[in-house]
Amino acid sequence: MYRTHNCGRLTSENIGEQVTLAGWVHRWRDHGGLMFIDLRDREGVVQVVFNPEESPQAHKLAEGLRNEYVVTVSGTVQRRPAGTENLKLVTGEVEVIAREARLLNAAKTPPFSVNEELEVDEAVRFRYRYLDLRREKMRDNIILRHRVIKYMRDFLDARGFVEIETPILINSTPEGARDYLVPSRVHPGKFYALPQSPQQLKQILMVAGFDKYYQIARCFRDEDQRADRQPEFTQLDLEMSFVDEEDVISLTEELFASLVETVTPDFRVPKPFPRLSFDEAMKRYGVDKPDLRYGLEIEDVSDIAAACDFAVLRSAVDAGGTARGICAPGCGDYSRRQINELAEFVQARGAKGLVSLPLGGERGKSVAAKFLSEGQIDGMAQRLQAKEGDLLLIVAGEAGVVAQSLGALRSEMAGRLDLADPGLLAFCWVLDYPLFERGADGGWESMHHPFTAPKDVDAALLEGSPEQVRAKHYDIVCNGCELGSGSIRIHNREMQEKVFRLLGYDEEDIERRFGRLLEAFEYGAPPHGGIAPGIDRFVMLLAREETIREVIPFPKNQNAADVMFDAPSEVADEQLEELHLRLRLE
Ligand code: ASP
Repeated sequence: MYRTHNCGRLTSENIGEQVTLAGWVHRWRDHGGLMFIDLRDREGVVQVVFNPEESPQAHKLAEGLRNEYVVTVSGTVQRRPAGTENLKLVTGEVEVIAREARLLNAAKTPPFSVNEELEVDEAVRFRYRYLDLRREKMRDNIILRHRVIKYMRDFLDARGFVEIETPILINSTPEGARDYLVPSRVHPGKFYALPQSPQQLKQILMVAGFDKYYQIARCFRDEDQRADRQPEFTQLDLEMSFVDEEDVISLTEELFASLVETVTPDFRVPKPFPRLSFDEAMKRYGVDKPDLRYGLEIEDVSDIAAACDFAVLRSAVDAGGTARGICAPGCGDYSRRQINELAEFVQARGAKGLVSLPLGGERGKSVAAKFLSEGQIDGMAQRLQAKEGDLLLIVAGEAGVVAQSLGALRSEMAGRLDLADPGLLAFCWVLDYPLFERGADGGWESMHHPFTAPKDVDAALLEGSPEQVRAKHYDIVCNGCELGSGSIRIHNREMQEKVFRLLGYDEEDIERRFGRLLEAFEYGAPPHGGIAPGIDRFVMLLAREETIREVIPFPKNQNAADVMFDAPSEVADEQLEELHLRLRLE
């Protein structure tokens, strides 16, 4: 038998028991006589003592052990001598007095230490991910991920949801990214696309009568890598029939709130989740994924700007733009260098410049103060609920640019001032999105995806003024991170075709890409809707990590490569031939 107990589980309750353990040498100390080995398995670490007098054979073996060797040890659990307890460890009151030991496998010296949480270059961590995953923090992250998914499954199962798998080799479904393609051997010149999401399939499952579906779904999107993006990622994909927005929203809210209470009760979750319209979110926070852990709300000061003598502000408003600002509390003494940094920060996000107004003794230092009357400065301060010692930061210009740059500045200042309470998960819902937005080529694009139902089904409005149509689209946001989007779907062929045409698809495209879904709609499609929160992002927040790479067991690096398995990689000529492909590398 390799083991009777887990190393990390032994406590004073086990004192006197004979146990057999198996695991890795976490640390070893030779006290010239006694040998101490910290033995580690998934559950944690326990101290094992080897005494040359009592067990010469075991002690001899222990002398040859090095970090990460794999061993099995039998012995007796005893209380550690008074004064040698380690209160930081669950097992810190006890130790195992070894009677027998057996080496199961030796180990090379690892390229980084597993027993310390030191900063290690990501390239090395990914190359030796199996060693990286042995480290305590990574182990905890992966187990947390398991507990989150398990909670989701149990919660949905208890509410009558059926977990259904959908194919990975399938056709393209537009979610706004490039597809990953897989060439077909059997059908020369044809390709499968890996799903960007199971969107069309889950809708077809509703037509098939499954009513409440979910899946822990892998999605594939070929897009630029960022901290919260990976080529493949995991969503909790769900869909329900005979529902409206409120049903999906309340189910999802209950799921997330109760999940946090159960799995990570250290976090506080304000309930109910605040709901904001898209317009309100853009106005107050400059983004549609506001971080509500802190205030720092954006306020409009266009009326004051329009009446002032400061050309930078007035001309922007005269030209049809807006002037808005935030109040940075206690930053009235920012140096010129600090202000310049902030100005560069907003300029990098499209703003022409930044107007800064320190309140209090420093007023005179600001250029803007020379062009604004006391009354105007007081008016702005009042609007921004600022007090002496604060700093007003104003951006003027086209509304979109103002929102974008101030939204970013708001989170930058919150970061500098450490305003976000680390114990808080501030969820919110963003609703009432426009159905369409203008794309780069001037045509209409879906804000969510083309299957989203319009709020206003007035055909004239849809065709005449598409920009005015709102969508039955909701986003769930947490701590400034978009967790997931969802919507009530179109379930009628005519309306769906109308939307496709508005989006610029021609008849052939529509038939080729969406023909089967449209056909299914003609066989009794129930009203339906759903959502797909990202699991990686959510676990990232719960684990207090900065990137989703920290909560994915085998992530790709920033270059979309797996450096452990060296993927993507070249393939043999015969394989290409079988796939009817010839490479033309430029
Ligand atoms: N398929 C959508 C997405 O991946 C989610 C949904 O509408 O349910 O964002």
